[in-house]
Amino acid sequence: MILFGPSGRDELTKKIDVLKIPQILADLGLYAFEYAFTHGVRINDENAIKFGCECKKYNVSLSVHAPYYISLTTSDPIKQKNNIIYFEQCIKKMKLMGAKVLVFHPGSLFGQTREHAFSLCKKNLKEIIMHLREAKLLNGIYLCPETMGKLGQIGTIDEIIELCNIDKNLVPTLDFGHINSFTGGQLKQIDDFKLIFDKVNTFLEKQKKDRFHIHFSKIKYGIRGEIKHLKFNELGEPDYHKFISALKNYSFNVNVICESSGSQISDAVIMKNLYQNLNI
Ligand SMILES: [Zn+2]
Repeated sequence: MILFGPSGRDELTKKIDVLKIPQILADLGLYAFEYAFTHGVRINDENAIKFGCECKKYNVSLSVHAPYYISLTTSDPIKQKNNIIYFEQCIKKMKLMGAKVLVFHPGSLFGQTREHAFSLCKKNLKEIIMHLREAKLLNGIYLCPETMGKLGQIGTIDEIIELCNIDKNLVPTLDFGHINSFTGGQLKQIDDFKLIFDKVNTFLEKQKKDRFHIHFSKIKYGIRGEIKHLKFNELGEPDYHKFISALKNYSFNVNVICESSGSQISDAVIMKNLYQNLNI
């Protein structure tokens, strides 16, 4: 089953109490939500539990986006120690909220060669997983490295697949706006999207087939990749119609999170309706 939903509150709901959001989403037929810890893990324990209860009550499947300041491409032991602390903070809060999926960005090159940055990323990720497992925090939690949109970031599809094959608790986040931006606009036809799904299905460890997390938004890009997220009613790529048409060919169990800039709830509804009404 495919569940659609937004990342965070949009322009119309940003002043509404977050505890009311699950009901609002369910009324619209949206059953996924991504809670943003992108600027820090700020929700207190009491509200985390309350929010989780509301999601459960309205059958809203919850994922969490880790802070942007996590960076696995570092060679600084203090920064790596902090990475471990940030992952622990996120997961402890996720357990209170009943969230299972933690999306994170692998990190930027910071003037290093791509190969060097990627090898640091793998080494640091292995270490983080070891710590989380020792702390018994990984049960029922999926860590989901995201495909990234800027050329100066780790996160091509091949890199994300390689990262995910490190451990059973790692599962990809396919961000199609990012993939399109990184590749300078290569997601044009339905088959271009299907190629990505097929690649992940082919190269991911067997037990993880059909299991990923998806982000979708139109994104403006330039020679260095991603510039900014757009709304569906703005001119831009990739085409959500082609994405949904491709998705219809598979029987995945995934959440599709809409990351449009300010219109992510109404744009998630557009994708959900399209998915339900499309006959192929
Ligand atoms: Zn992200």
